[in-house]
Amino acid sequence: MAAQDLVDPFGRTIRDLRISVTDRCNFRCTYCMPAEGMVWLPKSEVLTFEEIERLARLFVERYGVDGIRLTGGEPTVRAHLPVLIAKLAALKVPVDSASPLAGESIDLALTTNASTLANCADELRRAGLRRINISLDSLDRAKFEQMTRRDELDRVLVGIQAAIDTGFESVKINAVIERGVNDDEILDLADFGRRLGIEVRFIEFMPLDAEGHWDNEKVVSQDEIVSRIGEAFPLESVPARGAAPADRWRYLDGKGTVGVIPSVTKPFCADCDRVRLTADGQFRTCLFATTEFDLRALLRNGADDDTVAAEIERAVGTKWAGHQINQVNFVRPGRSMSQIGG
Ligand code: SAM
Ligand code: SF4
Repeated sequence: MAAQDLVDPFGRTIRDLRISVTDRCNFRCTYCMPAEGMVWLPKSEVLTFEEIERLARLFVERYGVDGIRLTGGEPTVRAHLPVLIAKLAALKVPVDSASPLAGESIDLALTTNASTLANCADELRRAGLRRINISLDSLDRAKFEQMTRRDELDRVLVGIQAAIDTGFESVKINAVIERGVNDDEILDLADFGRRLGIEVRFIEFMPLDAEGHWDNEKVVSQDEIVSRIGEAFPLESVPARGAAPADRWRYLDGKGTVGVIPSVTKPFCADCDRVRLTADGQFRTCLFATTEFDLRALLRNGADDDTVAAEIERAVGTKWAGHQINQVNFVRPGRSMSQIGG
């Protein structure tokens, strides 16, 4: 069957699929989860590796989706993750697809808190994982513990070094900045990336925390982040991000690049080429979507690929022009970041 583009009503072609492999996590970051009381999905409701592979294959082989990122919850707490990675790494973008990766393997990436990466980075790489993004919001042990509710900074730092030593095609750091919590560490985090030769991507705090303490006042804007970094380490903008969420800057002294994901103050919705699958097989066309499409039910009721594809197309036909954060009609999604898959 010839590949066909999956195009939404605003003309955006879907190329990127985020798959949450679990809603569970060994951290309790304050901007994501409550300290206690998260109710995990029962195992029977979580997609099996075979179900994930079947859906991923459909997206890649039928629609030319060329990038898959595994996330969660914390993806590395899912047992036997390298087995899934090997299955997905084998997927190839059809030669007749309009994707720039036509005929090649998909761009397979993972987002992790890195707490167990020292033990598994090698195995993940050998299974075919190409790129890795690691969350690190503070370099101060007490602050790190305050933000993640776990005293695990040292393990994460060892995990970051393991990822670098393993030779992934790219290793990046994600740092969520919350005013009054860790905005005093913007320069330290930027400098950390400069010293290790890896890109730090600062993320504006989004209203997806389980406890609902998000407030616009707590968002540190892209403009502020860039101007604070630029005062210490002069920057120039790197043009054109395409569908990538981060705007990027280059350090004028040649020490690499830094990114900011301005989801709140400068949403990149107009270029969004992304869709999401939750751990329990619900298909979402936006992080902030309030509607989900139940692909798991179709799979488990014996639907054939054409039926599942028809539902995917119906869902993509509802993709919004953009989210409404900070507008009066914004409705918080019913599930928080770790449940959707960040
Ligand atoms: N557990 C992994 C991790 O922390 O990297 C993967 C899942 S996590 C939900 C994915 C990303 O979402 C992380 O970089 C995390 O910092 C980010 N995130 C979580 N809650 C957020 C929020 N309310 N606003 C902005 N980013 C958030
Ligand atoms: Fe876990 Fe990632 Fe959420 Fe932190 S941001 S609680 S590490 S899922």
